[in-house]
Amino acid sequence: MHVEILPVTAFQQNCSIIWDEQKNAAIIDPGGEAEKLIEFIETQQLQLEKILLTHGHLDHVGAADRLKQHFQVEIWGPNSADQFLFDSLPAQSQRFGLAEIAVFYPDHWLDKEGQIITVGDMNFEILHLPGHTPGHIGFIEQQKNIAFSGDVLFYNSVGRTDFPRGNHQQLLSSIRQKLFKLNDEMIVIAGHGPATKIGLEKQNNPFIKN
Ligand SMILES: [Zn+2]
Repeated sequence: MHVEILPVTAFQQNCSIIWDEQKNAAIIDPGGEAEKLIEFIETQQLQLEKILLTHGHLDHVGAADRLKQHFQVEIWGPNSADQFLFDSLPAQSQRFGLAEIAVFYPDHWLDKEGQIITVGDMNFEILHLPGHTPGHIGFIEQQKNIAFSGDVLFYNSVGRTDFPRGNHQQLLSSIRQKLFKLNDEMIVIAGHGPATKIGLEKQNNPFIKN
């Protein structure tokens, strides 16, 4: 499994492009800079199968509709509790200070805990991780030992909860009850900043005292 992380937007959001040996690919959280992402996918000759979204904040979804039109693929996730964020994409554009984008919705809300989304030979288990937003989800590849968990758990930090419908206690319990149940060696690709591992965060993260 190959992973390329391309930071996008002024918020340096970690957009991830992943692919298997046959070049079957998915893109996770294309927050902006669509042309840069399209160029990468086409230069690498990847076969884009799906667009995956962890949550509805603009810096994670801003280029999703453009990529959907370009590659004719569907958008999967997040959980439907984030629908209000898609309703308000134009207002979010103003708040984030990014170029205005029109309202769009995912083709598939991912509301079923434990559902598996397949991309080539990769299988992503869906975990509902509310707190940063109510409909936030994570994409967990158990076999390949890697988790794409958006803005929930960061290297030595945690996601903000001062946005509409954020909830700090809920965020901490998503981390303790779900992410910290994953194996200690699992790599965590965070929505911003460096990658980390579950075990490292259990030991060092100052925001999560047990
Ligand atoms: Zn966010």
